[in-house]
Amino acid sequence: MSANITLFQVEDTEKPDTLTEGCHSVAARPYLCTGYDIYLVWEPCTMCAMALVHQRIRRIFYAFPNPNAGALGSVHRLQGEKSLNHHYAVFRVLLPEEVLSVEL
Ligand SMILES: [Zn+2]
Repeated sequence: MSANITLFQVEDTEKPDTLTEGCHSVAARPYLCTGYDIYLVWEPCTMCAMALVHQRIRRIFYAFPNPNAGALGSVHRLQGEKSLNHHYAVFRVLLPEEVLSVEL
């Protein structure tokens, strides 16, 4: 199946400083998950989003918002919280209809 997937960045109030820190030499081991991306089906809750802050994730991609507890735009916006010592970039993945209608 070939389908176009649309990404858009979830707006934050502070430019993430981690986007330029993604490259590591072979000799240099990354600190925790620095430089790693994570792909999620659902927008994480506050506890899960904070765990990703602690792990120093570089970018988060998720497909479906969590209107009850989502911490990356639906209820809270952790990526814009200036008091945190790490910020990741957040992208919402817009899946095309033909992907959503696939029966397994
Ligand atoms: Zn959670």
